[in-house]
Amino acid sequence: MPDESTRYAGNIPPVHFKCATLGKRLCPHLSHTFAEPVIYPSEPSRLLPRPDVVPGLERLAATMPSNLKIVYGCYRLYGPRFTALVVKLRKKNAVD
Ligand SMILES: [Zn+2]
Repeated sequence: MPDESTRYAGNIPPVHFKCATLGKRLCPHLSHTFAEPVIYPSEPSRLLPRPDVVPGLERLAATMPSNLKIVYGCYRLYGPRFTALVVKLRKKNAVD
């Protein structure tokens, strides 16, 4: 951030809290993660386009006309309250 603060950014779209909770319980992959579902933050966030070629899309990008502006991905930049929650949860779940 320009003011040297840190903000959490994620490129995974949010899902319903109940679906995430159910998925964490039932999915063989999610059930092995340390992350617990959290409520989507009520503070403002920004969806930012990513016009650079993201890893894995290099071959596709090579086929695109060079005169087109292409968005290869997006990420959401969260506010300070949600960032603080993410930092707290990461410290709580840190594995040595
Ligand atoms: Zn759902």
